[in-house]
Amino acid sequence: MNFEYDYCVYIGRFQPFHLGHLETVQVALETAKTVIIILGSHQVAPNIKNPWSAAVREQTILSCIEPDHRERVQFVRVRDRLYSDNLWLTDVQQKVIGIAEEDSRIAIIGYRKDSSSYYLDLFPQWTYIPTDNFKGINSTDIRNSYFSQSSESEFLSLLPAGTEQFLQGFREQPLYQRLTEEYQFIQSYKNAWEQAPYPPTFVTTDAVVVQSGHVLVVRRKAKPGKGLIALPGGFLQQDETILDGMLRELREETGLKVPRPVLQGSIVGEHVFDNPGRSLRGRTITHAYFIQLKAGKLPPVKGSDDADKAWWMSLSDLYGHEDTFFEDHFQIVQHFVSRI
Ligand code: NAD
Repeated sequence: MNFEYDYCVYIGRFQPFHLGHLETVQVALETAKTVIIILGSHQVAPNIKNPWSAAVREQTILSCIEPDHRERVQFVRVRDRLYSDNLWLTDVQQKVIGIAEEDSRIAIIGYRKDSSSYYLDLFPQWTYIPTDNFKGINSTDIRNSYFSQSSESEFLSLLPAGTEQFLQGFREQPLYQRLTEEYQFIQSYKNAWEQAPYPPTFVTTDAVVVQSGHVLVVRRKAKPGKGLIALPGGFLQQDETILDGMLRELREETGLKVPRPVLQGSIVGEHVFDNPGRSLRGRTITHAYFIQLKAGKLPPVKGSDDADKAWWMSLSDLYGHEDTFFEDHFQIVQHFVSRI
């Protein structure tokens, strides 16, 4: 069979993989010898926007594809780089080039859903194959029905059999229960602000305290992200500066007893992290400070307030725990510790 392209790249989160996605994969399989599916948002801690790991998504997608075509589909996993499209693009480019031979004819397929589809324009080196919206199906609506435990029939007809089967089985797993609770929490949180004249923008602070190859982290005591690893930090109070808020949260959550002048004198960087999608509670902008303490014995810390545990995590350990970090906190740490 003659194909117009050697490879067709299809980028998505597929949370979950629905009939619109399957239709696109089928078009890609008719156009190219090999379809490269990029599983985005890899290594994100499960939440109601990204509930399933790349491994689970890969298995589900494969189960939806005709067995004869499966060997023409390859998967790659790509992490989000919320604060650098260039780093994200480097990863996507490298992974595709790692599969495609030199001088391959490469296309990229996808539907321009809304402004979040801007990434489809970032690959001028590949031919863009536009697709239509398939029956108005939308993963967010499917997840909302699924995690709000509303009637199953609302979304089952929008799914390939493989996804339907997977979602039925997943209901038995403890993570499903946890995510339904998280869904309720986020809904109530948003409802509480519904009467405000404008959608709220929250301001938070975070501290990245590093000493002798260790970073100070906490475990979240409450929803959202209960049990996940986070930076000490929290919402700014009405009567404090951002610096004061950061120092207060740091003390409250970790019990760090280093005197204020030492902490303040050890600030070697600060940065605002403002990706509009960084928090599922709503628009939240965080001001993070990088505090580099002098080498020596790690000061004692103890979780309290919103943290049920505080500890010094070695930087090597950090990289092994990427998928258990809350929101973009892993990327915030990375921003500071990888600066040259
Ligand atoms: P998605 O699963 O929502 O959609 C995947 C594709 O399917 C898109 O082209 C979408 O338009 C299309 N689609 C959705 N519904 C359809 C329907 N009914 N009919 C036809 N097509 C339909 O995935 P997404 O959120 O668009 O995935 C993009 C990925 O790229 C994410 O993981 C995102 O985080 C990542 N990304 C990362 C960066 C960065 O980290 N800097 C930048 C851009 C994108």
